[in-house]
Amino acid sequence: MSTAEQLATALNQLRSRVGDRVLGPDDPGWDDARRPWNLSVEQHPAAVATPESAQDVVAVVDVARQHGLRVAPQGTGHSASPRASLEGSVLLDMSRMNAVQIDPERRRARLQAGAQWRHVVGPAAEHGLAGLSGSAPDVCVTGYALGGGASWMIRRYGLAANSIRAAEVVTADGREVRADAGSEPELFWALRGGGGSFGIVTALELELFPVRELYGGVLFWPQERAAEVLGAWHEWAAGVPEEMTSLGRLLNVPPLEEVPEPVRGRAFVLVEAAWLGDEAGGAELLAPLRELGPEMDTFAMIPPTGLPALHMDPPEPVPGAGDGMLLGDFPAGAIDALVGTAGPGTDSPLVSIEVRHLGGAAGRPHHEHGALAAIDAPHALYAVGMAANEDMKQTVVERLDRLQAALAPWDAGRFLNFTERPVGTARMFSDETHRRLREIKSKYDPDNVIQANHEIPPAG
Ligand SMILES: Cc1cc2nc3c(=O)[nH]c(=O)nc-3n(C[C@H](O)[C@H](O)[C@H](O)COP(=O)(O)OP(=O)(O)OC[C@H]3O[C@@H](n4cnc5c(N)ncnc54)[C@H](O)[C@@H]3O)c2cc1C
Repeated sequence: MSTAEQLATALNQLRSRVGDRVLGPDDPGWDDARRPWNLSVEQHPAAVATPESAQDVVAVVDVARQHGLRVAPQGTGHSASPRASLEGSVLLDMSRMNAVQIDPERRRARLQAGAQWRHVVGPAAEHGLAGLSGSAPDVCVTGYALGGGASWMIRRYGLAANSIRAAEVVTADGREVRADAGSEPELFWALRGGGGSFGIVTALELELFPVRELYGGVLFWPQERAAEVLGAWHEWAAGVPEEMTSLGRLLNVPPLEEVPEPVRGRAFVLVEAAWLGDEAGGAELLAPLRELGPEMDTFAMIPPTGLPALHMDPPEPVPGAGDGMLLGDFPAGAIDALVGTAGPGTDSPLVSIEVRHLGGAAGRPHHEHGALAAIDAPHALYAVGMAANEDMKQTVVERLDRLQAALAPWDAGRFLNFTERPVGTARMFSDETHRRLREIKSKYDPDNVIQANHEIPPAG
């Protein structure tokens, strides 16, 4: 049988098991089905399946295996860019499985694997609770949490991966299992920070935290003051309590109609922060930064439902090219390197370069940790630019390369969630953790059926 005939047979079998929840390249709606959140990435899988239940996922895994296809789970496609070619894969679009239940007594959320943070934040807040959500409300909780999960509360509560209390998983051999502290402990360990290589998650149970309000907001200065403000922020952040999570950022606001006039088309240096405490305490802590005379100051007491607006992430899919790195320190030399490569007067195509302050609970191994126990670096950088066509993408990628080269003296490795290029997972974990992850991959998926964005290869 030719490859085309084999694929046609596989598609027919998939349709007989999951009906119209599977599309092939000749079907109407194909281009919409294969399009990820990051619109700069062209995905060309063999088929796209949109399961509505764990049984659908089992069916897809069974048929894919029989035909030598891989299975690539996707929440939204925020991290579509590092994934290898999908030519021989079924893309498993989990977005229809997005139901969320909150158990306020046990402070738990049970969510299907396609749920995004926007599906969780509101229902949890109704009970005075919050999950460890990141900056963007439309990121899928599962992809985010499996890859570590850096939230606005990371310095107080640690990585979101370690707030996973249980995962329901379809394994590469088509079994439905529950992984938690008492069952499938190795799989449970690997899922918490090791990424999506170990099974197809169909539901998660997450710990929630009692948070009714935070003091959160943004301070804006003209970007000409980048070095001064980033230096002051770095010094200030070194002394704040764990209840304060913040970042320093260069933001070149696009000149788009929908952007409010005071910021449209302007270049800023920002400090964004969330303080788990009251207004008086937060204001006292922020005083040294306010003494620098910010042009705008949006700090206020906000419920957790206000957090997703803080970082001003794009509300809809966009074409972007980005990448990140961990920094072992962010002293004046690193600030000069950053500002000199992508600050004022450099004609930088990067829209945003942020440096997040970690440490605190982010840097201490969680008492019930999985593969990513903590992040052993005080700062994480992430930079991104618009990539609406190949030329724009190339220009952004070149500047990302220059930025990473300029910051090489402070390079402290890679954080899976902020890595949007295929660098190899060995750079994201200690040798010992990577070796253990590879062994677990061999045990649960020896034939490498499941295709993650950042793949842990089976031990070999
Ligand atoms: C605008 C923006 C803001 C962000 N903010 C933050 C932030 O504040 N903190 C942070 O830590 N990260 C952040 N990220 C990074 C984000 O967490 C990662 O891109 C994450 O992988 C997105 O998950 P997803 O499922 O939405 O994306 P996808 O690209 O769909 O998935 C990424 C990978 O997750 C795995 N995966 C997804 N679903 C499943 C499943 N059901 N079973 C098994 N594996 C699965 C797969 O390996 C997949 O390739 C941000 C990214 C963007 C673009």
